[in-house]
Amino acid sequence: MNKRVLCMLLALCMLFSVFLAGCKKKDKTKTDDGENTRAVEQLPFGPEAPAAVKAALEEKLRESAMTPVQKYWDDESNYGTLVPYDGIVEHIFFHPIVAYPELAFDGDYKESGIDDWMVTVSEYNKILQSLYDKGYIIVNMNDVWTETTDESGKAVMQKNTLMLPEGKKPIIISYDDVNYYEYMLENGFTYKLIIGDDGDIWSWGLDPQGKEVVSQDLDAITIMDKFVNEHPDFSLFGAKGCLCLTGYEGILGYRTHTDKDDTSAEFEANRQKEIEAVKPIVARLKETGWYFGCHSWSHLNLAKASYERVVEDNERWQNEVGSLVGETKLYFYPFGGRLDGNDVTQTGPCFKYMQEQGFRVFASVGIESYSKIKGDICAVICDRLHPDGTTLRWSRSRYLQFYDAADIFDYDVRPDYGYDFSK
Ligand SMILES: [Zn+2]
Repeated sequence: MNKRVLCMLLALCMLFSVFLAGCKKKDKTKTDDGENTRAVEQLPFGPEAPAAVKAALEEKLRESAMTPVQKYWDDESNYGTLVPYDGIVEHIFFHPIVAYPELAFDGDYKESGIDDWMVTVSEYNKILQSLYDKGYIIVNMNDVWTETTDESGKAVMQKNTLMLPEGKKPIIISYDDVNYYEYMLENGFTYKLIIGDDGDIWSWGLDPQGKEVVSQDLDAITIMDKFVNEHPDFSLFGAKGCLCLTGYEGILGYRTHTDKDDTSAEFEANRQKEIEAVKPIVARLKETGWYFGCHSWSHLNLAKASYERVVEDNERWQNEVGSLVGETKLYFYPFGGRLDGNDVTQTGPCFKYMQEQGFRVFASVGIESYSKIKGDICAVICDRLHPDGTTLRWSRSRYLQFYDAADIFDYDVRPDYGYDFSK
């Protein structure tokens, strides 16, 4: 049993014993089992009292189980009147972040890819702070568009009016490849998400000396959790990010995938163990505002994939990942490669298939938070911006609305690949 549940039970017992003590002050001589029953029978309140007390206790329990950000949004007086917002909803995405730059930027063959596509812990912390300072508030991507029917009865997507605290600007944050791939483990990233004794999400990994480290300061997810607990007005009703998962090396650091080359009983037994181990992680992430999207099973370049390949990949994702994280309407193109040959002007057979499978929002990568509701099919296509090494080095101006790369860039630890902050 974890500490949070234990604390809640303890609080419940204390409250109940205080209540009982109050009820039976004059009758506290007997110690046999009959005492409690009689004490309850002699309640000085009306017959409805036990239900009222139960409700009060339940309310206390509910409150004690809430995170600080959940408590903040549970009380309207904290955030005041919400106002409608119909403007652009910005969308940025991260990959896993570099916990140990000395392992990531050590001159091996992975160095330049990590430099291109990742930010360091220090950069990530500064980016979150800057987004917050500039008035952004994280919204859940599922709340931005909804499926509805038009006058003719046809299913269409619609963009919703968001209700935000006055002056706030909405932003979606997504996280690609939150799988803790094998190659990342020796290259300066955390190894997996775990549940700590407090019931919250922590990361587990090894530091450069090989020592075990359990932390909330080294992983994009736990850092975000901490940040919104400290700044609850950064997260609309506790919304965090979308975790976009592949399946070929399991999810969230757990090896839940099948392997066509290893069908041994031993592999399968370990896989089942990993599946059981990841379930509470998924549940806790969902409880605390995280949600999930599909990033294909095999990190497939969908722009080049045949119809058969797209179907096979999706079935495997649904079986091995969807079965663990639940249904999602959100699809995130690996390499930004759009279905049916990257052609956004038409709706090809692969796009139609994925839409029939339940996907409604298809996100690629671009130079702005573009989005378009498709007219011929019930779906939204959109682009995301990408805070990472390439844009920190070469696209400062495009990201100034979020942060200034000159203030963010980790000069001390990144390799000497140059940068141009005049761009
Ligand atoms: Zn990816």
